[in-house]
This record gives sequence, C-alpha cells and structure tokens, in this order.
Amino acid sequence: MKIALVAHDKKKDDMVQFTLAYQSILEKHELFATGTTGQRIAEATGLKVRRFQSGPLGGDQQIGAMIAQNDMDIVIFFRDPLTAQPHEPDINALIRLADVYEIPLATNMATAEILIMAMERGELNWREIIRNRRHAGGSL
Ligand code: PGA
Repeated sequence: MKIALVAHDKKKDDMVQFTLAYQSILEKHELFATGTTGQRIAEATGLKVRRFQSGPLGGDQQIGAMIAQNDMDIVIFFRDPLTAQPHEPDINALIRLADVYEIPLATNMATAEILIMAMERGELNWREIIRNRRHAGGSL
C-alpha cells in the first residue's frame, strides 16, 4: 500500500509517536510524506520515506496529484485544527481529492490507528483491485 503521512507543526510529535508505535506495520508499505514530516519520521524511526516538498511549498498538492492518479491508497493527515495555516487551500484540496477518489483518510490519531489496523488485517486490499483497474485503462 502507498501511504501518505502529513502532520502540521504542532502535530509532528504525535506523528513521530504514531510511526514509532506502528513501525513494524508501516515498514511493509511504501511511505510518502511532506518534507518536514518525512524528515522527522525518518530521523526518529529509520523508516524509508519518500519526501515531497514541505506542505506550504506544495507538498500537499504533490500528494493530491498522486491521489488524482489513483496512485495513493491511504492518507494519514494529522491536521492542527487550532492554528491557521498559510496553505489552507492546499489542505482543503487534498482532503477534497481523497473524497473524490474514496481514499481512506484519517485526520487524527484515533482514526489513524483504526485505519492502520484495518490495513494490517487486509480490509483495505480493495485498493489494489481499484489500482489494477486503473492500470488496465479505466478512469475513476
Ligand atoms: P511539512 O508540511 O511536513 O513540510 O511541515 C506539512 C504541512 O504543513 O502541510
């Protein structure tokens, strides 16, 4: 599975704790992240993470582009709901695209844990079928 990991500044410690706790599951998958989030995860866990631009510099849009190609399976996005972000439009666009393509999206740790455990049990394997359909020439 391709998993996108994003955390706003005040949520980055939570993301580090999350990825440490689920490292043994996450290491079996392809991980992507916005710049600083990816750096923090890689430093703390040693997990291999493909890093995009930092969020305010376009990283959320890069993840959105993968979603639009149906090439991202899960998004874990620890948003900070109490701090205004300069790139709010990009954040909304990312969440919107996840809904357009029905990509499982968690915006807090409680839901992220449920997603990760569901993935581990194979309950998100339908994503593989949808991705293969796209490779066979389908659209949505
Ligand atoms: P960052 O971006 O991981 O580069 O901090 C996340 C964001 O603010 O959207």
